Amino acid sequence: MKGVFAILKLEQKIPSKKDIEGEIKFYKKKFPTLEGILDLFGSIFELQIEYADKVDVSKFDFSEDKVTETLKEGKPLLLTKKGEISPELFRELFIRLAEIVKEKSLQKPVALDKILEADELKSKNIGLLIEKFEEGDNSFFESLSKEKDINKDVLLFMITHTLSPFYEAYSKGLRPKINHHYWGKEFCPVCGNRSYIMRLRKEDGLKLLSCSVCKTEWWTQRIRCAFCNNVDSKLLSVFYPEDDKGHQVELCDKCKKYAKLSNEKELGRDVILRVEDVATIHLDAVAKKKGYSPIAQPPIEMN
Ligand SMILES: [Zn+2]
Ligand SMILES: [Zn+2]
Repeated sequence: MKGVFAILKLEQKIPSKKDIEGEIKFYKKKFPTLEGILDLFGSIFELQIEYADKVDVSKFDFSEDKVTETLKEGKPLLLTKKGEISPELFRELFIRLAEIVKEKSLQKPVALDKILEADELKSKNIGLLIEKFEEGDNSFFESLSKEKDINKDVLLFMITHTLSPFYEAYSKGLRPKINHHYWGKEFCPVCGNRSYIMRLRKEDGLKLLSCSVCKTEWWTQRIRCAFCNNVDSKLLSVFYPEDDKGHQVELCDKCKKYAKLSNEKELGRDVILRVEDVATIHLDAVAKKKGYSPIAQPPIEMN
């Protein structure tokens, strides 16, 4: 019987456009003051789902043995695959995303038109742009934003949201092959990025982290900091609004990071974490005011 306990597979439901639409509607009713931002992100998430279906994932069909082997070595699965992103599809999605942001965001960054004219955004140079982004080359984006007179945070926001559906598409086929018994780390088993929000699964209370880029979920212990792995309960605490106990924030006093958590049992429903992130934006403000910072740059923030 020993082998049975060595296999932990997580079934992850992939939201459809209709699921997103339903969740956005639910939260617009619950939190009317968030209507504008929920509308903006509802449109972004639906566009991303549309494009994730167009991504060529044929090069990411790793065998289950290769997946297990890579995870056992402590490496995320996509570490060895780079430069697979179609520049044409990237540019097409970037343009459509820019239309949504111009129309629906409060900032209405008109400079987005200028960025589309930039050489760096031409199909032949997009490979380099993605490379610089993945390397975290701050000076590259610093000078690009100065040259084109566009807010750097808006630029990085646009690139993050354009890349996300590519990574989500690559991860979809890999997730069912992951034996989480071999992982349990503080970063994503597929792409290596950090978690931006977590949930306690309704059926069994299992604590799942969710990747800020590819949206893959992975397992962690109930009492453990999602950033520094601190398990000293004296240095861990939780806060939540009195009238909304299912939306919680975990704080770690060892690393001074916070992580939002949706407790599905308390909420009485299954959640879609990317929508939860938008619907709980007020909790980020509270956590930051208390002196904590997020584990990953939340995908919904422009600055
Ligand atoms: Zn990931
Ligand atoms: Zn910590």
